[in-house]
Amino acid sequence: MRRALAAANWKMHGSIEAISQYCSALEVGSGPVDVAIFVPAVFLNATAGILPEGAVAGIQDIGVAETGAHTGEIAAEMAREMGAVWSIVGHSERRQDQQESDELIGQKAAAAFRGGLRPIVCVGETLEERRRGDETAVVGRQLEAVLAAVSAGDLAGGAIGYEPVWAIGTGETATPEQAQAMHAFIRSLLAEKDAEAAQQTPIVYGGSVKPENAVELFGQADIDGGLVGGASLDAGQFSAIIAAAADSA
Ligand code: PEP
Repeated sequence: MRRALAAANWKMHGSIEAISQYCSALEVGSGPVDVAIFVPAVFLNATAGILPEGAVAGIQDIGVAETGAHTGEIAAEMAREMGAVWSIVGHSERRQDQQESDELIGQKAAAAFRGGLRPIVCVGETLEERRRGDETAVVGRQLEAVLAAVSAGDLAGGAIGYEPVWAIGTGETATPEQAQAMHAFIRSLLAEKDAEAAQQTPIVYGGSVKPENAVELFGQADIDGGLVGGASLDAGQFSAIIAAAADSA
C-alpha cells in the first residue's frame, strides 16, 4: 500500500517565532501519512529541531552541483546535514521566476537523490495550455525530462506533485475528476518504465487545497495526498489536511 504524503510549502513566509508557534500547534497524528514542512532554507536547521514527532523538514529547492563556485546555491547534501529529508524540485514559481527548464529540473531530481534527499518533482500546465487542450502533452514532456535523469524505480523513493499552475494560490481548484485524470495519466507514464515502481510512487495534488476540499480530492484512486501552500501556513488547517490524507491512504 502506498503511504500518503501531506506537504506544507511555506514559500517565502515565516520567521523563527512563527515556525516555533506552528510546531507547537501542529497535529500530525499516527496515520499512514508522511508529513513534510518546507520552510525557507535559512530556517531549516531550527525547524528540523522542533518539529513534532512524525513530521520532517524539507527544502524548497536545491542546486545541481555538489560543491564549488555557485554563489547562493545550496547542495542537497548541505540541506540534508541541516535536517532536510525532502526537497521540492521544479515548483512552477521557480519554472516561471527563475526560468528553470525541464532538463534542469531533471538534473535537480537526480541531485536530490545523490545528496540523500527525497524529491517532490512538480509538474503542471498553465491555464493557457489547458485551454488549448495541451495539458497532458505538457505534463508528459515535463515528466519525460525527469525520467531521462532519474529511473522510475528511484523516483518511487520521492514523489510527483501535480500542480496545475492556474490553481496555485488562486483559490481555484482542479475538480477531483480533472485531478484524478491527470494523476492516472502520470501513473501510466511511470508504468511504461516500471509497473511496480508506478504503483509505489506517491502522486500528490497541489493547487488551493483546503480542509474543505481535501477529503474529496484525496479520495480519488491516484491522488496520494497534497502539496499545500496557503492553507499549510495555518497549523489547524494543515492538521486537518494531514488527517484527510491519512484517512485516504
Ligand atoms: C503550492 O505552493 O505549491 C501551492 C499549491 O499553493 P496553494 O495551496 O496556495 O495553491
